[in-house]
Order: sequence, then C-alpha cells, then structure tokens
Amino acid sequence: MPLRDTKGSPMDEGAAAGGLRNRMVDEQLAGRGVRDEDVLNAFRRVPRHRFCLPETPLRQAYADHPLPIGHGQTISQPLMVAEMTVALGLKRGHRVLEIGTGSGYQAAILAMLAGTVETVERIAALAETAGSLFRELGLTTINSHIHDGTLGWAASAPYDAIVVTAASPEIPPPLLDQLGDGGRLAIPVGSRGLQELIIAERHGPDIVYRHAGGCRFVPLLGQFGWPD
Ligand code: SAH
Repeated sequence: MPLRDTKGSPMDEGAAAGGLRNRMVDEQLAGRGVRDEDVLNAFRRVPRHRFCLPETPLRQAYADHPLPIGHGQTISQPLMVAEMTVALGLKRGHRVLEIGTGSGYQAAILAMLAGTVETVERIAALAETAGSLFRELGLTTINSHIHDGTLGWAASAPYDAIVVTAASPEIPPPLLDQLGDGGRLAIPVGSRGLQELIIAERHGPDIVYRHAGGCRFVPLLGQFGWPD
C-alpha cells in the first residue's frame, strides 16, 4: 500500500519526522521485543505525527506514551499499537475490522499489512477527520464507518482479524459472530480503569482465549459495551 501526500510527493515531512520515527521503532518497539519485521516496517512508513492534533510538537508525536486526539479520546502508545497488531498475525489479503477509529493511526498500520480494513467509530467528527486523512494519504483500502462498533460491521463479515481499541466489560457477541474460521480478535476487557488484553481465536465453532497482559484504554460505549 503506497502512502502519498496531496501533491503526490513522498509522504515524509523531512528528515526530522523520519528520524524520530526510526528512533521510535528501534527503541520503543524493536528494543522492547517486537520482532516482526513487517510490523516494524509498517511503523517506519506511517507518519504518526499526521494523526495527532495539529498543535502536537513533532517530538511528542513519536514519544513513548498515548496522546490526546480531542473529544476525550487518545491515540495509543506506539508499543501498545504494535503488540495488538502482532497478536493479529496479519497477512496481505486479510480482511480486517477495527472498532474505535479515533485518529486513524492503528487503521493505517493495519492497512500496511493486510487487505481491506473496515474501521468503525461512534464519534462522527473523529471518523470524518480520519476519513479525510486516509484520502489525503492515499490509504484507499480503509473504509470508515460511523456506527456503534459493539455491533461490529456485519456487511463485510467474516473477518480474518478484529481489533477493538477501546475497553469493554465483556467481548461483544456480534464481534465473535463476525470472526471467520482461524480469525483472531484482540480486545481489552475489564473494568473502566484497568483491563487485560484478550486474544480470541476461532477454530470452527470453538473459540480459544489467550491473556496477553494488562492495559488501559478509553471505554467502549454502546449496546454491548459500557452504557452511553
Ligand atoms: N485506534 C485509535 C484509538 C482510538 S481511542 C487510534 O489509533 O487513534 C478509542 C476510540 O474508540 C475512540 O475514538 C472512541 O470514540 C471509540 N469508541 C468507543 N466506543 C465505540 C463504539 N461503540 N463504536 C465505535 N467506536 C467507539
């Protein structure tokens, strides 16, 4: 998936962003055990600073923590985005569903590694900003939807991978229904303040669950999440 800016010239906004991005990958990801070369390359290519609020200093955009994206929401720490992405085991043709578009950064990373990405966001303003950035960057394999993502996105199911980037009290049943055979779902499950990353994998009618460590996400609000 090629990335471009509006003028069609290479995406990179100069050496500064590229340098910070490579350092982020080397120190925060590879340096902390992310081994998947394709995933590391995806993080080298996607300009994280473009997904941050315009006033965010460039250095902060590549720092080792989550960042505010407006509307009380956040873009996750790079390492968390990487760990969730690795857990999905993405392949080129995979059909992916993301719940919680937010800034669109995770969706852009997914688009580098898989086939089509359906991404669902409940806050229209966030979905619209992310959607225009996808168009600007030439990320044509991402389809963005404004919807309650706890219901999934049935129109394009089944999926090879589903990632939920907001925290839920339980796994929304529609997401398991929309997971294809051999497909994986990554979702933070727990209380509003603290969760555990759960990786669910479908084997025919059976679902196998793996616990992948503690995490903190903003709440998933909706029919099968926290009350709105
Ligand atoms: N993946 C994002 C992180 C977004 S934070 C990124 O890379 O920037 C989580 C997002 O989930 C927020 O934007 C929030 O509005 C959204 N969200 C919460 N509940 C939702 C629901 N039921 N359906 C869709 N999106 C939801």
